[in-house]
Amino acid sequence: MIAQSKKFDLKTKVVIVDEFKIISQYFERKVEDNSVRVGIGDDGAVLSPDRQKDLIAVVDSMVSAVHFPVWLSPADIGYRAVAINLSDVAAMGGTPRWMTLALTLVKPDSDWLEEFSSGLFAAAEEFNVALVGGDTTRGSEIIISVQILGDIERGSVLQRSGAEPGDGIYVSGTLGDASAGLSIKESGSPLTQASEFLVGRFQRPHPRVDLGRFLRTRATAAIDLSDGLFGDLEKLLSASELGGTIELDKLPLSKQMTQLVRRRDAIHFALAGGDDYELCFTASDPFINETDVPIQRIGTVSNDLGLSCTLDGNSYEFRNKGYRHFT
Ligand code: ADP
Ligand code: MG
Repeated sequence: MIAQSKKFDLKTKVVIVDEFKIISQYFERKVEDNSVRVGIGDDGAVLSPDRQKDLIAVVDSMVSAVHFPVWLSPADIGYRAVAINLSDVAAMGGTPRWMTLALTLVKPDSDWLEEFSSGLFAAAEEFNVALVGGDTTRGSEIIISVQILGDIERGSVLQRSGAEPGDGIYVSGTLGDASAGLSIKESGSPLTQASEFLVGRFQRPHPRVDLGRFLRTRATAAIDLSDGLFGDLEKLLSASELGGTIELDKLPLSKQMTQLVRRRDAIHFALAGGDDYELCFTASDPFINETDVPIQRIGTVSNDLGLSCTLDGNSYEFRNKGYRHFT
């Protein structure tokens, strides 16, 4: 993933110089949402939150050299920037409502902006979020910072800290696909239908917003999986001041993954790979899944601090090397 985005350096036909033109042409769209009293165009956005609800605020920045590979299209970059924030709102059990976008561009190029904004709005429309403001600046690399505000019935937010001893540990979907796809793509091997699927899971993560809303009354704690299951689950357990065990043979793996990757490697992608944007949560028994999203029980919360793994009934030593920005 460590690659400078070159897309932007390509000589393109039009160079847009005016920041206000950029805003009006690519980002200002009609908002049909009564909760947006003032949107793009004034000094600030004015929003009317529901009085019965709590607000959830999340923000995530993507820096070109660190967070997106050179081959990722501007449309996917736009979609992803929104999706990874939606995933945080999902992990809190919230409903995403409004979004702001702070954009730093190296050399504003109309083709890039056209594609980027189409991807951004594809995600925004799919999940019903209105773009209500932002900031546009020039800098030495592309930085995309999306903030999303969501809401939730007062007092019912889902946190990392609520797990109880004896709870089951659950995950949604399949794990490891995105990082396996990234590694296949970057190895330069020709892509097959199965590896295209894995790469697609990196390009367009699907935030589990509906599942998160279902879980707000059923789960005791939740986190979204951005950095790899092992490290993210450790964060949930340590916030809950508890520990747990993962049974690695229970990890949900896609058929494309098992087709292309050896079992041990697949397990490592699932544990440490990151970029899955599935949800991991704890719940007391019995947990009954009333959603369409596949859910798998992968382990149990315990009183013993720390996270351990078993594979086929035997203890399995796993050393986590999750992604860290400053180490
Ligand atoms: P100010 O100087 O008061 O901060 P700007 O001139 O930077 O305002 O922005 C004008 C309007 O355009 C504001 O409403 C701002 O929120 C909005 N805006 C700026 N950049 C973006 C962007 N990338 N996406 C969406 N809205 C934006
Ligand atoms: Mg102002």
